[in-house]
Amino acid sequence: MNLQEFLDFNTICPMCASTSLVTIFHSPKKQFLIETAAEISVTMDMKAISSYGNDRNYEIEFVFNKQNNSYVIEFHHPKGNNFDGHRIDDYISINMIDRFKKFDFNHKGYRFTRKCEDCLKYEYHSGDFKLDYKTLNIGELFITSESYFLYNEYKNIEYHLLNTYHPIYTPFSVLQYGVRTIKTNYHLLDHLQLPLIKFTTKEKMLEKFEKLVLFS
Ligand SMILES: [Zn+2]
Repeated sequence: MNLQEFLDFNTICPMCASTSLVTIFHSPKKQFLIETAAEISVTMDMKAISSYGNDRNYEIEFVFNKQNNSYVIEFHHPKGNNFDGHRIDDYISINMIDRFKKFDFNHKGYRFTRKCEDCLKYEYHSGDFKLDYKTLNIGELFITSESYFLYNEYKNIEYHLLNTYHPIYTPFSVLQYGVRTIKTNYHLLDHLQLPLIKFTTKEKMLEKFEKLVLFS
């Protein structure tokens, strides 16, 4: 599928019905993403990527075409100096290109994620891809997984279902939170491998998971 189809795969959060799923490239940290009708542009600070050499504040911008999955990489001047974030059109040093290649190598691969930022209980992912410098195209995208978090407030238990499609496997975890439901303070109560579960409604899923845990 092309990037537009990936974005359209789900536009409404199945957990809270929010229509504001956000798009994330690679990692939500240290990026600035703009979506237009035709493109997605992601800007990252070189300073965040690497701390060696000069040019450390230059920015990298990835511009993805939503229809044909092609992309371009652009370099920008650091913000705050005379050129204040302007694109570098005339001269890109070998040093900057080397730095970029190292940064790209460190990332190992990329993927797109769509996540509900209203409830934080649903997200879906593309498969991993590498940046092919020859074709300048990220290739066909596919949905590799969907992740659902369902919370039972009476038991202070959260169910996490990860439907994974390539290859198919479905890990299911049951987490019990400690005091004040601090996210990092939890016990893994159970972990199962399930057949793919088609998501229906939050209520029906909760019911299903309650039974699963009962008999596991
Ligand atoms: Zn939501």
